[in-house]
Amino acid sequence: MDIKYIEYNKITHNRNTTDIREHEGVSYITFKNLSEAQVVHGFSTRIGGVSKGHLSTMNLSFHRGDDPDLVMENHRRLSEAIGYDHRKLVFSDQVHETRIHKVTEADIGKGITCESDIKGIDGLMTDVPGIPLITFYADCVPVYYYDPVKAVVAMNHSGWRGTVAKISREMIKALNSEYGCDPADLICAVGPSICRKCYEVSEDVAQEFEKAYTPEQYDTMITKKENGKYLLDLHVANYYNLVDNGVLPEHIDVTDICTCCNPEILFSHRASHGRRGNLGAVIMLK
Ligand SMILES: [Zn+2]
Repeated sequence: MDIKYIEYNKITHNRNTTDIREHEGVSYITFKNLSEAQVVHGFSTRIGGVSKGHLSTMNLSFHRGDDPDLVMENHRRLSEAIGYDHRKLVFSDQVHETRIHKVTEADIGKGITCESDIKGIDGLMTDVPGIPLITFYADCVPVYYYDPVKAVVAMNHSGWRGTVAKISREMIKALNSEYGCDPADLICAVGPSICRKCYEVSEDVAQEFEKAYTPEQYDTMITKKENGKYLLDLHVANYYNLVDNGVLPEHIDVTDICTCCNPEILFSHRASHGRRGNLGAVIMLK
């Protein structure tokens, strides 16, 4: 597979953090630090599914006009590749806010085998083994968490709104209050999503980030363009959200793959002008 990688970035030590794996025609991305910790996880690609046209081939969303039978088959294939039971998946809602839901046995299958009452939720966490958590993407940033001490996994969806509102701070607080997790124990990954070169934003978005970060941090995440627009680095911003809340830099793998730089392999909202399916980020406690 001919994938383009993001240039090395000295803030997040962003080099060789991912692996591309393949199982019976299904390609997916994993993170080196989570693989070393033996966490069941992955980030899907467009490769190896059964959907057609602009949803081809591995669309994981039931809400983008796809045939539900095809979406279910895509979930089955991805689950076989990564190694979980797709009928037990728990879906997030993804409203670009910062609320976190504690997933228990009562939530098994919500979003895939039964109607979900998990509303207004961008972050999922659980200490129950065997429940795969999934969040959905086409340029936004997935953040994965694993605590090997307390045996907890979590994941949040960070678009620019969730990033600037610091959903990772809310996640780290929730992990601490619900399970007693120490942020210094967390192993994290900032997943495949839009890179700085591809992510042009308007001045009002840039100003939100200027307010939310220190001037030194802001300088490292923004480039002003001559057309009055800005290029924003959501990977660096999400990295700061983790380290500012106690995660150790050496415990964070930041993606070296951009969705928008690879529109044939990954769904990108920007690259497709909105005609696209959804990718999935999955994590499960064994
Ligand atoms: Zn890019």
